[in-house]
Amino acid sequence: MSVRRFHVYDSRTRETRVFAPITPPRVGLYVCGMTPYSAAHVGHARTMVFFDVVARALRRWGYRVFYVQNVTNLDDKVIARAAESGDDPLGLADHQFREYLASMERLGVRSVNLYPYATDYVPEIVAQIRTLVDKGYAYRADDGSVYFEVAKFAPYGALSGQRVEELRPGARLELDPRKRSPEDFVIWKSATPGEPSWESPWGPGRPGWHIEDTAMTGRLLGDRYDLHGGGIDLIFPHHEAEVALAESATGVAPLANYWLHGGLLLLEGTKMSKSLGNVARLDAVLDEYGPMPLRLFYLNASYRSPLEFDPEKSLVEAREAYGRLAQPATRLAELIDRGGAEREGEELPDGVEVEADDLVERLDTLLASDFATREAIAALYSWGRRVGELGNLTRFSGAGLSGLYGPYAWGEEVLGLFVRPATGASGAWSEIVPVALEARARARARGDFAEADRIRDALAAQGVRLEDGPDGTRWEFVASG
Ligand SMILES: [Zn+2]
Repeated sequence: MSVRRFHVYDSRTRETRVFAPITPPRVGLYVCGMTPYSAAHVGHARTMVFFDVVARALRRWGYRVFYVQNVTNLDDKVIARAAESGDDPLGLADHQFREYLASMERLGVRSVNLYPYATDYVPEIVAQIRTLVDKGYAYRADDGSVYFEVAKFAPYGALSGQRVEELRPGARLELDPRKRSPEDFVIWKSATPGEPSWESPWGPGRPGWHIEDTAMTGRLLGDRYDLHGGGIDLIFPHHEAEVALAESATGVAPLANYWLHGGLLLLEGTKMSKSLGNVARLDAVLDEYGPMPLRLFYLNASYRSPLEFDPEKSLVEAREAYGRLAQPATRLAELIDRGGAEREGEELPDGVEVEADDLVERLDTLLASDFATREAIAALYSWGRRVGELGNLTRFSGAGLSGLYGPYAWGEEVLGLFVRPATGASGAWSEIVPVALEARARARARGDFAEADRIRDALAAQGVRLEDGPDGTRWEFVASG
């Protein structure tokens, strides 16, 4: 089976490279996921939407992607937050993770195959730590914690381009007496009473952060896999630590053949982060603007660049922009829904079908050049203008309309745009809404405007927007939660 060739910017080699999978057409994709101690924000979602597009594009191109995104369901922040609220830490993380999944579902991020919890991989974590201790890369401190000794791994710093000497906090900071050197990092934390802990050869404790990723990927994706992704802020120390742990433990390098890092979402020029408190909650943004404007906002930028999020402006503009982008797509989809492929009518003017096919090819080519989503969106805007030039669309046959929809079908499949809210089994909405509109028209005719408004609001809550005009009421699905 043939797969499409594509280029990707690899942070490890700092160059744009042709992608070559280890075992084509399989692709192992691992993306650092959530530490679910509180609600997800729109900065997290930027990363998740980008890697969703990566997985969608690769699958379209014939790759069989196995996409794993870990869940750090136990760490210091989870424990601290649970202590504040009086919750069980693992229960709190589980609840927050489910909320995150619900938001991902609304956003159309459904490409992840597996969301493993760190605490489900304790045997793998303990086994990897034992290997590191046996090989002399890690040591047990007096309190029963285990540290990775950075000086033992010569390539440390290569991924992020840092030098170990620069990492030393210097004499100003007191050295943790448990560490041999300041840059050493903990991979097994000795148990604190009252916290979840597991037995280990070094005494009871729980996993450190970085080791969960390498223990999981070793198990799920092998010693070496294709693509590792995450936000650019994770490159140091987290991804550097992953490389050190995995490559020391297995002797296999590189851990991942390609490293993809997404740019940060900034709020007033500063990274959006829970610890800084400058966040816009994802669920609240989805409630207010719906998923499609948010996806457009993320994807209408180069994925590696920082993106400024203005809570007052960004999504108001994105909603308007999405309205313009999606209007022809929505109109075409409505007409196709109404008549299906059998719909009779004119064929498209000469050459238009070919233009549509060429555009789809061009869209794939853009994505295949390091995921140029912004350029793809610009091409879709142009297509909307082209469709507009054709004038009244109702005269075309079902086949003609489907031809015009081709580039939008691509946008739906790869970018996750143009998705209309679920229409229930067998597209029942197109039958239900006219019935509701008739009831509303009767209510208005008898002067019961409260009832008419109630019907309008009930439809709006389901994502159906009404527009009263001289020829009656038109309706459309709008992108909403
Ligand atoms: Zn990670």
